[in-house]
Amino acid sequence: MKLLKSFKFKLIFKTEQSRKAAQFAGCKRYVFNQALEMQIQRSESGQKIWSYAELCRQLTDWRHDEETAFLAKAPTHPLQQGLKDLDRAFRNCFEKRSGFPRFKRKGNRDSFRYPDQKQFKIDQPNSRFYLPKLGWVRYYNSREITGTAKQITITRETDGWYVSVQTEEDRNPSPQVIENSVGIDVGVAVFATMSDGVKFNSPLDLKIVSKKIANSQRNLAKKVRGSSNWRKSVSKIQKIYKKIFNVRKDFLHKVSTTICKNHAVVIVEDLKVKNMSASAKGTIEKPGKRVKAKSGLNKAILSQGWSEFFRQLEYKLAWNGGRLIKIAPHNTSMRCANCNHVCKENRKTQSSFECIECKNLENADVNAAKNIQAAGLAVLACGENQLSISSKQEPTVMASCLA
Ligand SMILES: [Zn+2]
Repeated sequence: MKLLKSFKFKLIFKTEQSRKAAQFAGCKRYVFNQALEMQIQRSESGQKIWSYAELCRQLTDWRHDEETAFLAKAPTHPLQQGLKDLDRAFRNCFEKRSGFPRFKRKGNRDSFRYPDQKQFKIDQPNSRFYLPKLGWVRYYNSREITGTAKQITITRETDGWYVSVQTEEDRNPSPQVIENSVGIDVGVAVFATMSDGVKFNSPLDLKIVSKKIANSQRNLAKKVRGSSNWRKSVSKIQKIYKKIFNVRKDFLHKVSTTICKNHAVVIVEDLKVKNMSASAKGTIEKPGKRVKAKSGLNKAILSQGWSEFFRQLEYKLAWNGGRLIKIAPHNTSMRCANCNHVCKENRKTQSSFECIECKNLENADVNAAKNIQAAGLAVLACGENQLSISSKQEPTVMASCLA
């Protein structure tokens, strides 16, 4: 199987290089917006919109046109990639996967990419990249790049420029052991609880984080839009988000690596189906005032964390020949994992579960994780037909064969 990996490093641009990079990103945005404008005009006048190849020919014209000759200063391939992005955006729109393509605004995640491995060089021993029209660029070499580099993307973030290298390598997965399975319940109070009782607590205190964001957003609202104080406030908020993102990413990688090392099959609930609003209200201890307003933010932070967690589990399991199974939630928090009795009264408090039928006493999250594990194993036992659906694009298995 082909293993796709992505490596990200911070770049050390010289002043001239960062000026050029901003220019390239600007050219790519210009090309994207011009082409989008053109496509809109064509479609409004009843003409068929241009294909990617036709757009590329248009790009060549622009590069030779005196008025838009500045485009010739940027490397061709990244500009063509801008057109490819537009082409994909239209296709996604036609196939109803997303809305109509929108114009790109300045500073809104500036980026450009080199799609051809013949175009760039990676010199790891000397911690540098060679990029067309930028020359040698140094980077903070924090880890080894493995596999064959296929594509390089340069992105501007709040604190500077970054490079992502997408690589590909062949890996023969070892055969999976079904017995080695675990169910995981994700929640607001405890980030993840495994059916064997192990818990992972998020390093982010959501109360503190959301308070910080709310405070700085209030601060921002007082400033005059566009003023230098306003800009300072914006950059402060961006820094907070970046910090949250980094802390969470680090935590998620550690947890998912630990889990995938020891388990071949991991079973989770499909969050698209799971109704999280109830738990957001009920599980944060002693909800204060304005919990409703805050819970939106908490939920956003959490749900992003969960889906990223599942994404990491999925690809890390696949490296070792394992798999992630998503099941439809089905009374997982109210069912007794011991005797299968389902009723509301089983759940005594947020954290404890006491079955009124068999008197089984268990931590509520562990009980739920056990139910999730059982549901997943039942799906596995139902046969590979169900799973072949799951192993395609959407790895969701509806627990239709569950009792
Ligand atoms: Zn019971």
